[in-house]
Amino acid sequence: MPQESFDALNFITTPVWLVSPASEHVLFANTAATEIMQAKTLYDLRNGPYSASAQTLLAKYVPDLKSKIDIVEIWTVTRHDQEFALCCRLALTHYEGYGEIIVFEGIASQAPAGLKASRSATYQRKKQGFFARFFLTNSAPMLLIDPGRDGQIVDANLAALNFYGYTAEDMCSKHTWEINTLGRNILPIMTEIARLPGGHKPLNFVHRLADGSTRHVQTYAGPIEIYGEKLMLCIIHDITEQKRLEMELEHAALRDSMTGLLNRRQFYLITEQTNPAQLPAQQQFSLLLVDTDHFKNINDVFGHLKGDEVLISLSRTLELCCRKEDFVFRWGGEEFVILLPRTTLDTAMQVAENIRAAVARITIPGLPRFTVSIGVARHNPDENIDDLFKRVDDALYRAKGDGRNKVLAA
Ligand code: GH3
Ligand code: MG
Ligand code: MG
Repeated sequence: MPQESFDALNFITTPVWLVSPASEHVLFANTAATEIMQAKTLYDLRNGPYSASAQTLLAKYVPDLKSKIDIVEIWTVTRHDQEFALCCRLALTHYEGYGEIIVFEGIASQAPAGLKASRSATYQRKKQGFFARFFLTNSAPMLLIDPGRDGQIVDANLAALNFYGYTAEDMCSKHTWEINTLGRNILPIMTEIARLPGGHKPLNFVHRLADGSTRHVQTYAGPIEIYGEKLMLCIIHDITEQKRLEMELEHAALRDSMTGLLNRRQFYLITEQTNPAQLPAQQQFSLLLVDTDHFKNINDVFGHLKGDEVLISLSRTLELCCRKEDFVFRWGGEEFVILLPRTTLDTAMQVAENIRAAVARITIPGLPRFTVSIGVARHNPDENIDDLFKRVDDALYRAKGDGRNKVLAA
């Protein structure tokens, strides 16, 4: 990125980030942004204890931003070793050679006018007329919250009582931070939302119900002035099922359905990751190519289903022999790839030898023992993935030629 083209943004005292919605990379952060970002990545900012957003994937904001819909996100930033919430407004721009760019601009904090003076007790006395009917009879769960009193819940409609499973009395003795799994971390977020002009995109949270279970909710919260009091009206939409489907889809895109291991596509996504913040984790990694010996025989003699059982059992063994930070992929068929970050060739050889021995000990009822051959290579600096693969494949080929059930280094 030609940083100097954006240098002018360094003179602005509000933090500004330019982010590619497609790659989710920070293309530029001005001085004010760098200061409060510190060592955090974009992911950390958007997923910290104070963070809240309407979409997980930035690309999904693009159509709304094109339609000039107001979108805000709450980020977790750091100043003087203290984390706090920063409200960011999003805007879309276009930059020659980079396509669409989302501009995140931190909104300067001002004291929320009038919020401190709120005395929501009078709300209960005066509750009547159109607002009361609209609120109480609405089929969407709604909460009325007093941000000036620590997020006290002032009122809840019938739909909300049904959703949370509390009586009206119990519900109105609670605070937002008692139902939000963020706990008291929700308070700075609520203060940020209370000072927004309204009309922003909903934010996603996890809320706890009376029975202790949790639900994913999308909340539309905005300031509301009623009977002279400044409160917050919060409309709650249960998106638990939608979240579950999203996670299922994510899982399906990431993993091989039979073994549950990462798929080949993920291997390229991880190794071709260009985000500089991610690079150290992949530097100087070693690679293992694991191939099941005479697997065709197992299929031919015991049937395809037994063959599948072998692959599943083998996958669990590979995972058990690896550390938390290692990546195990089903490369295809009866072949597996293991990426060992920050691992020397010697250590990689030991891991491979452990795997070879552990596989040889697997017993599956009704099946004879089976073995694997493994090629091992350490990634050379500047070596491309294809060249590394060729080396590890040659090592595997030699291990096969050497009688199988073998580990050989490239
Ligand atoms: P080698 O020791 O040389 O690796 O011999 P091999 O028999 O393991 O190698 P080959 O490549 O000849 O056979 C691999 C077999 O794996 C062929 C294919 O039908 C089978 N296979 C691939 N995917 C699956 C699967 O998902 N399930 C089952 N049961 N078999 C599979
Ligand atoms: Mg093979
Ligand atoms: Mg094989």
